Amino acid sequence: MAEEIIKVINLKKWFPVRLGFFESIISRKELFVRAVDGIDFDIKKGEIFGLVGESGSGKTTTGRLILKLIEPTSGKILFEGKDITGLPEKDFKVYRRKMQIIFQDPYESLNPRMTIFDIIAEPIRVQGVAEEEHEVEEKVFKALEDVQLVPPEEFIYRYPHELSGGQRQRVATARALVLNPEFIVADEPVSMLDASIRAEVLNVMFELMRKYNVSFMYITHDLALARHICDRIAVMYLGKIMEMGTVDQIVYEPLHPYTKALIAAVPSPDPAAKRIEVVLKGEVPSPINPPSGCRFHTRCPEFIGNVCKTREPKLVDVGNKHFVACHLYSSRREK
Ligand code: SF4
Repeated sequence: MAEEIIKVINLKKWFPVRLGFFESIISRKELFVRAVDGIDFDIKKGEIFGLVGESGSGKTTTGRLILKLIEPTSGKILFEGKDITGLPEKDFKVYRRKMQIIFQDPYESLNPRMTIFDIIAEPIRVQGVAEEEHEVEEKVFKALEDVQLVPPEEFIYRYPHELSGGQRQRVATARALVLNPEFIVADEPVSMLDASIRAEVLNVMFELMRKYNVSFMYITHDLALARHICDRIAVMYLGKIMEMGTVDQIVYEPLHPYTKALIAAVPSPDPAAKRIEVVLKGEVPSPINPPSGCRFHTRCPEFIGNVCKTREPKLVDVGNKHFVACHLYSSRREK
């Protein structure tokens, strides 16, 4: 079995809710948005791991927690077996180089006042990984060639606004890869792009991940895309993981009623051709006051009674590392 690059143990992130003056007088207790509420998973070296869920499920917060862009409320994050959770920034610097992120919005994530050359060169300079300017140039040119923005001379003097959305996301990919990271989080990296170029941008991105054996966490609401890209998928709902397994387990043998609903929303026969929003009856409940017991019970088509309302199901291995959090399976071994 491949070694783990990332391991997450009972990770939580609760954001305090700011109350108005009168609300704070009426409310006796502090309120929190439970964005991530106790999740466990690992990512193997070289693996593409998908984190899938509706808006508000906690997937983006999870990505930011792993990269230490925000601090967790509790729980642990291990990188190659080393606990990085409480590391001060100066000690984390060495890991920062190994862990990169590609943001959702290529229009906002690139500094509009910097040239493409300087945008890609910046992390090299900040991390001090090139001693001479010609080394910086070599790395920037190679990164641009990797993402097929060629010839590089045509792009290095341009500014982000002079590029198309797809080209900007390629620049973001080049910037993320230029330090030879071991792990990348991509947060909905193509959702802001025109549908016609999504596949092309993703292909470039994932070819490079495979080529350089980068481990990858792909955050998306789009199960249709995730199934074509990922090795394993975890399905999140209201800050919890509901189901986790290989793509085949999640897509062809889904067990959790929520995953089944997501799968039902994916069109066939060619789901890759379309981008499908997750559609379920009813609204996602508030993460400030999530439903008791199973968080999915207010929307679950397979609700089995009081136990769903009162007892929180644990994530259970139902065999072959296929994990499900549902009382329909809770007699099995708990994770
Ligand atoms: Fe549905 Fe109950 Fe399973 Fe939750 S525990 S998913 S409510 S059957």
